[in-house]
Amino acid sequence: MAPRVLIVGASVGGATAAITLRSFGIETIMLEKELSKAKPCGGAVPPAAFREFDLPTSLIDRKVKQCLIVSPSGQETRVPVAGTIPSDDDYVAMVRREVFDSFLRQRAQERGADLIHAQLTGLRVDRRGVVATYRTPSGHEGSVWADVVIGADGAYSPTAKFLGLPHLPRAVAIQERIKLSPDKMARWEETADLYLGYEVSPDLYAWAFPKRDHIAVGIGAGPRHSTAAKQLLTNLKRRLGDALAGGQTILREAHALPMEPRPHMAFDRAMLIGDAAGLVVHTSGEGIYWAMKSGQMAAQTLAEYLDAPSAANLRHYERRWWKQYGTMYRFLRFLQMWGYGNERQMEVFTEMCRNYDVQRLTFDSYMHKQMAPAPWLAQLRMTAEIIASEVRNYLRPRTPIREQLGLTVVEKERMVAAD
Ligand SMILES: Cc1cc2nc3c(=O)[nH]c(=O)nc-3n(C[C@H](O)[C@H](O)[C@H](O)COP(=O)(O)OP(=O)(O)OC[C@H]3O[C@@H](n4cnc5c(N)ncnc54)[C@H](O)[C@@H]3O)c2cc1C
Repeated sequence: MAPRVLIVGASVGGATAAITLRSFGIETIMLEKELSKAKPCGGAVPPAAFREFDLPTSLIDRKVKQCLIVSPSGQETRVPVAGTIPSDDDYVAMVRREVFDSFLRQRAQERGADLIHAQLTGLRVDRRGVVATYRTPSGHEGSVWADVVIGADGAYSPTAKFLGLPHLPRAVAIQERIKLSPDKMARWEETADLYLGYEVSPDLYAWAFPKRDHIAVGIGAGPRHSTAAKQLLTNLKRRLGDALAGGQTILREAHALPMEPRPHMAFDRAMLIGDAAGLVVHTSGEGIYWAMKSGQMAAQTLAEYLDAPSAANLRHYERRWWKQYGTMYRFLRFLQMWGYGNERQMEVFTEMCRNYDVQRLTFDSYMHKQMAPAPWLAQLRMTAEIIASEVRNYLRPRTPIREQLGLTVVEKERMVAAD
């Protein structure tokens, strides 16, 4: 019998893995429990995804050409979206996940992958292969066998659970889609906003991302602040004030985000990709590109070793992953801890985003997934500006804007103490 791969979860990561497996002619089955609702998501996608995965730009609601970063005290930095070598391909794509995911899933099916609309209810993996049991929305119970399983089933990954792996630490992100009149939307024509401050996001950031006819406003809250998520979102809307006046909330959505990569992403006859493997970048909460890329890389590795899918062979996938992206992950992890560590650092971070070299480094790594070390003169300039900004903000701390607005204080220390 021809070898067969089962993919649990047919969202961005799972569908990309299926498309890649089919390019090698491998029999592929996707199991997906949710085909009607969209994955809760800000939907910001780098242009690299469109180039590398040959995606049509018709999937894009808006191309963002400028980011507005607002510090806890309300100081604003406007950053043009541009890499070291500016081009027409410099933008952040804003997509709606219901449109984006359906496209990928449909492409996977057109290339010959099968799709079962059902929830995984059990998984047995042993020397002989993989047997998964499932339940369809109408209650029908069934089972499917495969040679290898790919867990592409998100932050709660049932596949990882059935493999006996521990939960990953998780943040929560909550978002509202707010429909605005065209004159209000004009404010966000080509701009996306990021907000920093304890009252909107004590350890990550809050956002306002424009879609075709609505704005998606949301916050990320680390594991110790997830119970305050609704309050943080309310505070964000208060900070946005008149910009949202007359808006109509059309959807409120929330989901978990993994906060750490798993120590291993491949096992005997099993692999994990995307959120199931913990591959979200912390500074930006970005996971779409990484889920697609890990799906592609896992599938390419699997195609090489399908006749002997042992942990030792399949771990070529994780070695390749960390060789290619390890430096970038470590750098972005450091940036999150440094830039969002406390409100003074958030002020410094906002000021540093005015530095030309910081802007280029940030957007080269975000848009093109490349990280070249900055020339030594640029490094010197950045270091000098960081020190000056640290000293300035230490000697003359800025007053958080929440004090003018009378917002509920969600102080980091107090939240930690309350846990
Ligand atoms: C509010 C929010 C905003 C975000 N904003 C951004 C952003 O702007 N840009 C960005 O790049 N990333 C963003 N992310 C992260 C991004 O959404 C994820 O990293 C990305 O979706 C991961 O893709 P994935 O394919 O690994 O998993 P998911 O997209 O989570 O898909 C998992 C799939 O598995 C299915 N599944 C789960 N359990 C089962 C089961 N038992 N049986 C069958 N199927 C199952 C689910 O239905 C789902 O379709 C955001 C996340 C959140 C929560």
